Amino acid sequence: MSRNFESPGRRPAACCGRFAPSPTGRLHFGSLVAAVGSYLDARASGGNWLLRIEDIDRERTAPGAAEAIQSTLAGLAFEWDGEVLYQSRRLDAYRAALSQLRENGDIYPCACSRREIAARAPAVGVDGAPVYPGTCRSGLPHGRDARSWRMLAPAEEIVFDDRVQGPQRQDVAAAVGDFVLLRADGRFAYQLAVVVDDAAQGVNSVVRGADLLDSTPRQIWLAQRLRLPVPAYAHLPLASNAAGEKLSKQTRARAIDATSGSPLLAAALEFLGHVVPPDLRHAPLSEFWRWAIANWSITFVPARRSATSGSPPAAVAADADEDP
Ligand SMILES: [Zn+2]
Repeated sequence: MSRNFESPGRRPAACCGRFAPSPTGRLHFGSLVAAVGSYLDARASGGNWLLRIEDIDRERTAPGAAEAIQSTLAGLAFEWDGEVLYQSRRLDAYRAALSQLRENGDIYPCACSRREIAARAPAVGVDGAPVYPGTCRSGLPHGRDARSWRMLAPAEEIVFDDRVQGPQRQDVAAAVGDFVLLRADGRFAYQLAVVVDDAAQGVNSVVRGADLLDSTPRQIWLAQRLRLPVPAYAHLPLASNAAGEKLSKQTRARAIDATSGSPLLAAALEFLGHVVPPDLRHAPLSEFWRWAIANWSITFVPARRSATSGSPPAAVAADADEDP
């Protein structure tokens, strides 16, 4: 049996979108694609577009990266609404959500180490990590202390309609098992933070990279249990390099240079399936955005999880690798 949590397959009429980069380094072409897609989708509906810095994982946060991301976006004439939200300043909200789940009986303490989980896992999950075997679900083993807190996976499949990737379904229990919300190191999990923040910011339309498609059912389940609205979802193809690797800090993707302007934005929009008129490539940014907002259609975006970004012209990519 499956249940559809009323995740609308269409963008809401009064749309509120967002871009939520992790400040692990400078923006690269892959993250620019998510910024362009979420921005145009929100603006084309006359909606708001918010900026959130997902710096909850302090160890991965690079000094100065949050500022560099904002300055790159501003240099490309992105305009965000309201104040920038920093996850590192939202710990009270995450704590409150965790308490609510605890009162609901949705979470439980877990004593298992990574090694213990790996030894008993029934399978490798969608994230590439072992599926949690449920060891502590009915109580901590005798004499053991809690290391983390886990969310009970839903008993039913989660079904939703992705605006780009189409109908999706996942049995979270089989795909990941009961999942961690409060980690052994005392930090809140991304899954919890993103759900709490989207609701707090009034985000009702999430447009982001397809690397998060597999964690969306967990987020829908969390929103449901926290009695929060479930946003519409659209997962854009990920830009990959010639070797088929996702552009990221790990694959040494080159940082983008805001001075590349319209040609760079045109490359991102073409990656998202739009045909950009040649003269627009060298138009002022304001003209580029005017055309792009008027001509954006999410139906042009390829329903694929990843695509090769090709080799952007030398003028488009910055030479310096500032994202080691
Ligand atoms: Zn456990």
